[in-house]
Amino acid sequence: MDQTTSTISTQDFRRTIAELSQRQAQADALFDSIGQGAIATDKDGKINRINQTALDLLGRKRDEMMGKWFPEAVVAENAQGKTIPPMDRSITKAFLTGHAITQRSFYQRKVGASIPVTVTVSPVMLDGQPVGAVEVFRDITHELEVDTMKTEFIYLASHQLRTPLTAVKTYTHMLHEGYYGDLTVTQQNATQTVLDSLDRMNEIISKLLNISRIEAGKISVLPSEVLLNGILHECLAEFDPIIKAKQLSVQTNLRKQEALSTDPVLAKEICSNLLSNAIKYTPEGGQIKVSLSHTKDKQTVRIQDSGYGIPAASQNLLFTKFYRAPNVLDTKENGTGLGLYLVKGLAAVLGGEVWFDSKIRQGSSFYFSIPLIPPVEKEEATV
Ligand code: ADP
Repeated sequence: MDQTTSTISTQDFRRTIAELSQRQAQADALFDSIGQGAIATDKDGKINRINQTALDLLGRKRDEMMGKWFPEAVVAENAQGKTIPPMDRSITKAFLTGHAITQRSFYQRKVGASIPVTVTVSPVMLDGQPVGAVEVFRDITHELEVDTMKTEFIYLASHQLRTPLTAVKTYTHMLHEGYYGDLTVTQQNATQTVLDSLDRMNEIISKLLNISRIEAGKISVLPSEVLLNGILHECLAEFDPIIKAKQLSVQTNLRKQEALSTDPVLAKEICSNLLSNAIKYTPEGGQIKVSLSHTKDKQTVRIQDSGYGIPAASQNLLFTKFYRAPNVLDTKENGTGLGLYLVKGLAAVLGGEVWFDSKIRQGSSFYFSIPLIPPVEKEEATV
């Protein structure tokens, strides 16, 4: 190798090194400027980058974190203060599934109480293989406080509305029944409309109360031996007048099943909401089928209707609070979009599940399954 070539190579080499360090500095600056906590790991889950926001949130110094195994260096807890095992951590799930995972949990700080965080971990893929992961997380203390305040407000407001509403209902009822003198037909129609609206208000208030109880984790479950077919018969009897008024044909397959241990009031609330929707969203003359089946570990209620169905685009939003699909907004049926959100929450409280399948203009089937053995307190990985 002659002297000139060697000198040029050294210069090139130096330039390349300078360029690489500049790129590295730019990447570091970029990583540090992410407004949320950001941590990157290699394919073994060892931390190779952490920004200042993450260090501040965790109350740690950079050299305490670099090169450490992520699940050990950043300890996550569930809402009950139990440490979440590495297998249940979002980073492990992201590595295993190859997809971004979002979870809520609590991160331990070096000193002081843990902080609630929302975490999103994305695997970094190269040629289809995970070569590392990037986690972004933020402190959600304030959001949780606002959520709690909202829930408490809804609870108090609904609770306070109940007492005056009971008085209004009692006196309207007495008026309607002629306790204060005979009414003309027009007056009777008017009081009936008031009574119907009061029933709807009561229903909305009781849904809001139950939702705020679930959201605050304060719903009480009082299990007893329950026959689901009995509950379904009770619901059908309660809806009989409206079933007749809409001339719906109802088929049942409700053979007696083994009694299961669950809360009868909550289980009935679920069945009643699903049946009420099937009736509401099926036009006059349609069909409804109610059946109960079992496997060795659960019983499943199926409520099938030949009604409006649910548009494909709405299906993943159906259990969201206040959501109503566009196809029912044109019908005369009133609704709040709270029923299914409540049903989902109640089913989770009972350790059960709710799901559906549906085709637009053909009908829907809603399912509610409940385990034969009541759930023992599960370790929750989320807040
Ligand atoms: P609401 O009935 O008060 O609107 P829900 O939460 O019970 O509230 O239901 C949410 C939405 O789901 C309804 O507005 C409707 O669009 C859709 N839906 C629920 N059940 C059915 C059903 N059986 N058939 C068709 N659409 C349904």
